[in-house]
Amino acid sequence: MRRLAPALPSPCEVCRRWTGAGVCDPCLARFAPPLCRCLRCAIGMPGREPEPAPQAPVCAACVASPPPWRRAVSAVDYGFPWDTLVAALKFRNRPELAGTLSRLLEQAVVAAESRTPGWPGADLVLPVPLAPARLAARGYNQAWELARRVSQALGRQADSTWLQRPLHTEPLPGQTRQARARSLEGAFMVDPTRRTALAGRHVALVDDVLTTGATAREACSVLLRAGAGSVELWTLARTPEPCSTSSSSIPKSPPTPET
Ligand SMILES: [Zn+2]
Ligand SMILES: [Zn+2]
Repeated sequence: MRRLAPALPSPCEVCRRWTGAGVCDPCLARFAPPLCRCLRCAIGMPGREPEPAPQAPVCAACVASPPPWRRAVSAVDYGFPWDTLVAALKFRNRPELAGTLSRLLEQAVVAAESRTPGWPGADLVLPVPLAPARLAARGYNQAWELARRVSQALGRQADSTWLQRPLHTEPLPGQTRQARARSLEGAFMVDPTRRTALAGRHVALVDDVLTTGATAREACSVLLRAGAGSVELWTLARTPEPCSTSSSSIPKSPPTPET
């Protein structure tokens, strides 16, 4: 069972029992069970073993169409209660939830890196940026709230300005992968003053949830074109559907919280 760092007693974010962590150990055991995940897209692969590279399992979708990032790490499947907590983090002005959630992601990254001892670890942690208008409206970027905490815990450099999002464009539900990719063209850019410093760096791109992968794919491609040595994707949660070409990979609305 994964344990979170001790803290002052507070109600568990899921069951409201008093705990020393944001989510209590029984809830972690119930809702964040250890699960083998695809090396490339982090989709759950029940029944497989999380073997070290190069035997690490890769799902059929990633064998057929490998993503541009070298690895994806996710802590949990996107479902109750994590969808509720992510929605609160993003839409209900609760950036402090990133404290609890980032510890889960940090543990998933440590476990993933232990299975690739020959790989250089990501040495630059960048959040998927929000466009300025959205950042102004929300007041914070939930991806940066996760990224800065994980990077601090792991002792890696992090910055919220190297990757920028001048425009907010968003794929529409039901679009094909090609249409989603087109709708995101030009959404991201690397700060021109950082291009030299980015050359050859191993970047971890952080977001809250990996769904279709369209946004991450575009951001990753921009980083690689700008000279990053490699990119990996760290997300708190992963939807259980593959990063496929069909509209069936669009996640359903989060279920209503039970309490
Ligand atoms: Zn609990
Ligand atoms: Zn995969």
